[in-house]
Amino acid sequence: MTIPHTSFRDSVERMFTHAAGLMDLQPGLEEKIRVCNSTYTVRFGVRLRGQIHTFTGYRSVHSEHMEPVKGGIRYSLDVTQDEVEALAALMTYKCALVEVPFGGSKGGLCIDPRAWNEDELERITRRFTYELSRRNLISPSQNVPAPDMGTGEREMAWMADAYKRLHPDDINAKACVTGKPRHAGGIEGRVEATGRGVQYALREFFRHDDVMKKAGLTGTLAGKRVIVQGLGNVGYHAAQFLSVEDKALITCVIERDGAISNPQGINIDSLRGHIRATGGIKGFVGGDYRENGLAALEDDCDILIPAAVESVIHADNAERIKCKLIIEAANGPVTADADAILKRKGVVIIPDMYANAGGVTVSYFEWVKNLSQISLGRLERRHEEARARMLVEELERISADTGTNFELAKGFKEAFLHGADELDLVRSGLDDTMREAFKKMKEVWMSNPKVDDMRTAGYVVAIRRISNVYGSLGL
Ligand code: NAD
Repeated sequence: MTIPHTSFRDSVERMFTHAAGLMDLQPGLEEKIRVCNSTYTVRFGVRLRGQIHTFTGYRSVHSEHMEPVKGGIRYSLDVTQDEVEALAALMTYKCALVEVPFGGSKGGLCIDPRAWNEDELERITRRFTYELSRRNLISPSQNVPAPDMGTGEREMAWMADAYKRLHPDDINAKACVTGKPRHAGGIEGRVEATGRGVQYALREFFRHDDVMKKAGLTGTLAGKRVIVQGLGNVGYHAAQFLSVEDKALITCVIERDGAISNPQGINIDSLRGHIRATGGIKGFVGGDYRENGLAALEDDCDILIPAAVESVIHADNAERIKCKLIIEAANGPVTADADAILKRKGVVIIPDMYANAGGVTVSYFEWVKNLSQISLGRLERRHEEARARMLVEELERISADTGTNFELAKGFKEAFLHGADELDLVRSGLDDTMREAFKKMKEVWMSNPKVDDMRTAGYVVAIRRISNVYGSLGL
């Protein structure tokens, strides 16, 4: 992989500084918002395979202007302090932009999760949780981790259980992490939330002709050629929803071991099955394979969805990128240098702090559900159904009494009589969040000529909201 010229944290800080420079912030506030409050590094040993193995982990708290602070835990050998701090900063801005009441945090463990079996990973995760708990870096009221690259429901369940054992008298213990399995206090729709949010963000983008025009796009998502990098949690769900529900063509998928292309569109479920069975995309029969996956980022397409790691589009390849629109499903896939080049080329970027905010949005719903100890929709669902039934029966009675004999379409009747369950409410809340945040960003982007792209608009909205909190604190 080409070494990016700018570190991930530098990139985030440059983008932040560009936006903050357009605002009239009180002296010193820009610096206060920009800096990362603290980063805790822990090294701990776990006896595995007959010897002690030492692991290094981080939990960074970027901003506590709202608490708890929130952010995923990443398992990867590439985890560094720089990366964790950049990701924590992005969490602060993301939460502010989509109006979830959290500060920003992020964690990581330097580990290759594929190198350890399930039993070993559980012991490592439980020990990491213990170290975080000792310093209040996992707690329902102060710091709430979630899944990120290399972690998922399983790890969150282990963390929640480890926390509960350490704090048996905490009635809110379940809310110490989000992204848990449903049976362990999770919420419907969290696994796919980030990918679903990418879909909702794109749908919203395609509702605005003026914004589409900036990218040189017209029409709908149907038939648009899409390249996806990374077919993990976020990339798989985004690709699956876009291809099955919006009829977009996923013309290329890039993974660690290469790229698969098919101009007719790739069957995402089949490819996912192949990856699960073989460990990679090589040998998949539904498209043409090439070993140099990174080069495929430069293929012609309408929409490019980087959904793997940061800094994949940088000063050395940005000039050759041919898509019209990039939606940053991953955090930080475009460096600050590349961002400037792409802007000059007219490529529109839907920024990470908005594009992948679906995860933290649904995590917020899960946290609220855990604190209220009741599932979403439990109180009102049957009541809603009863009222809908009353209306339908009354209409049917009038129809019979007056001899008009009209009939409601079967599909309509079933849908109307269905009270909203947890998944319906989660989707509705997520859709609303993505639409509202988009409109806010667009308003700032379109109304201020100095705000030259959607990313800057996102930062302006976020910084304004954070500075309002500091203002109300008298800082
Ligand atoms: P994941 O571990 O489930 O999937 C990552 C995928 O990317 C894997 O399939 C992996 O093989 C692939 N990959 C890794 N390095 C690659 C490379 N160099 N080239 C091509 N493919 C590569 O992780 P995820 O949860 O889907 O996260 C992906 C990105 O989305 C990360 O940047 C993460 O911070 C961001 N994100 C995730 C969530 C979430 O809810 N999981 C929320 C917000 C943002």
